[in-house]
Amino acid sequence: CGIVGYIGMNDTTETLLRGLEKLEYRGYDSAGIARLNREGVHVTKVKGRIAALREEIEKQNITATMGIGHTRWATHGAPNHSNSHPHQSASGRFTIVHNGVIENYEDIQRDYLADVEMASDTDTEVIVQLVEKLYETLQDVKAAFRKAISLLKGSYAVAIMDEKNPDTIYVAKNKSPLLVGLGEGFNVVSSDSMAMLQVTDQFVELEDKEIVLVRRQEVEIQKLDGTKVERDAFTAEIDA
Ligand code: GLU
Repeated sequence: CGIVGYIGMNDTTETLLRGLEKLEYRGYDSAGIARLNREGVHVTKVKGRIAALREEIEKQNITATMGIGHTRWATHGAPNHSNSHPHQSASGRFTIVHNGVIENYEDIQRDYLADVEMASDTDTEVIVQLVEKLYETLQDVKAAFRKAISLLKGSYAVAIMDEKNPDTIYVAKNKSPLLVGLGEGFNVVSSDSMAMLQVTDQFVELEDKEIVLVRRQEVEIQKLDGTKVERDAFTAEIDA
């Protein structure tokens, strides 16, 4: 399983699909991508092979300069279409991909989301619903994302898109691998540098529970308390 993301000036579709193809070796049961453009968010997902996802996507005529992608290894909820990622919040505003296991998802559901109707059986959906719920009170996406991350227990690599904020991918990790890749006029995220060597060999490592705002021209890393983090990129080996 793995996640990928791209935000830049060019169409994201091929970068996401190729990235997911490079992550196939990790094993998966379903795959999906979400692309955000002027019309809104477009989610495409399938149970089964990435080749089937590619086929679905090639029937569409969607271009977008930002997107996130996922291969799923089901831990909570059967491997089927509705449990495949990306998942969305109730209003459709927030869209997430997640690898890992949220150990306290039932507590979060009970304490924060008792009135929210879930569209899937996954632990993942709880994260994106929580972000939306916290946003309703905090009225600030970054603050809602930070608070949501502080409430999660377990392992995760997550990337979230906000339909109303098409200049940022919100990223965080805990005990699951995740890297940010740096480009000229674009930036990417990936579970594995190999998946994004197609577009860059400059990567920044992330530490657990950092909040990362990935934008077209910059990447901002913060600790949970808001302190800024500066970290140099490393060069990944091309023949990895
Ligand atoms: N726990 C999540 C699920 O079952 C993510 C699994 C994964 O890492 O692919 O959907």
